[in-house]
Amino acid sequence: MSQETCGSLPPLEVLVDAKNLDERFALTYEPETYRRVIAGKDVIIHCHHYNSRMQRTVESSGRVDGGMLIRSSAETVFAEQVAAVLRDDEDEPTRRAAAEGLYRHLGFGVLDFSKLEEGVITSPSSHYVEGWLARFGTREKSVCTFVEGFIQGAVYALTGKLVHAREQSCMAKGDSACVFHLDFDRDTPIEPNRKQKFEFEQQRDLKFVHSNNIDEQKIIDALVEMPIHGNDDGLIPAFSVYLANTPADYYNLLSIRFVEAMQAARRGSAARRMLVSDGESCAMNTFRGIMSSAEWDALVVPMVQEQRDKMYALVAISNGLGWGNWHILEDRGRQGITYASLNGYEALGYREYRGQADQPQCLMLTGVAAGLMELVYGQGTVAERQGTYLSTEKSCICHDSATCQFEVEQA
Ligand SMILES: [Zn+2]
Ligand SMILES: [Zn+2]
Repeated sequence: MSQETCGSLPPLEVLVDAKNLDERFALTYEPETYRRVIAGKDVIIHCHHYNSRMQRTVESSGRVDGGMLIRSSAETVFAEQVAAVLRDDEDEPTRRAAAEGLYRHLGFGVLDFSKLEEGVITSPSSHYVEGWLARFGTREKSVCTFVEGFIQGAVYALTGKLVHAREQSCMAKGDSACVFHLDFDRDTPIEPNRKQKFEFEQQRDLKFVHSNNIDEQKIIDALVEMPIHGNDDGLIPAFSVYLANTPADYYNLLSIRFVEAMQAARRGSAARRMLVSDGESCAMNTFRGIMSSAEWDALVVPMVQEQRDKMYALVAISNGLGWGNWHILEDRGRQGITYASLNGYEALGYREYRGQADQPQCLMLTGVAAGLMELVYGQGTVAERQGTYLSTEKSCICHDSATCQFEVEQA
């Protein structure tokens, strides 16, 4: 390259910085356990259906302050994850670019921290807004509670300052951008992400059922090779849905705290049922999207010989999404199915946060277990299929067993 042409290119250090930042968000994938790790956190791929529904469940119970639960869980987790992509010896613009880059890479949208001192954070693109609009339509209230929590954690990681972030304008209400104001008058600390190590050996001697027609490893490899990270708008449109990489810690903290808060209001069983139902609807919506996508047509359709093959393909896909490592233990066709999950994120997370439980705790996977059967064997719309299969977590790593087992029967 000649000296003359160099003048029109960005300075070399800018290019190096961008490359440096990307390396900090690189995905580490562990084939043994199917775990996906970004910036020190296990991340789980869920779509906007699940994220919006879970938010609505937590915020709409009326018995607990759901907004506070979402913000406090997010700030605890993202204060850590943002800190993991910052370097002490870098200047402020680079550190802010790293925090913004992580947010965009995970698929949550775009955040602009350039007016942080003035107490204003802007977001021109948002996974939670896209999700809410696609699922529930416009709303009079702001929807970006999760983003408020992310900002509170990120500002703490960037500056050491405690703030409350409150959304003033939201695209879900028809505003042109989501705008968050910072209140620096806060003295309550961010709760640390306190976990105890759970010594755990994944069980290896279970005999699973497979389909000779479905090459599960090929499906998982294809998912791992897919670039599942945010585009220029920080969004991940894929499989006809919006995906996001959310730390397992966030889902676990939020669901544990929600159930506990509801238990204190004597509504614990209802809270568990709602979270199961969110998983059930998530499975049907997400996987219905997946089954009508070009990716499914290219990769899976050529393998499918009979209806049950779809179930084996869907289980392989969910394993590729980082939900854990689960397989089919007994296949009774449309009558029912038994799955075993060897290292689900809910089970391991519960153990780390709370220790041994007095009952099974894998609520999302319990719902997904039923949702997959309803999708593969059910008829009609998602609403008509919901509840046509009943799923029970018969044993759980949190409770009394080395694996989690889910039994699903026709209702
Ligand atoms: Zn918003
Ligand atoms: Zn379990």
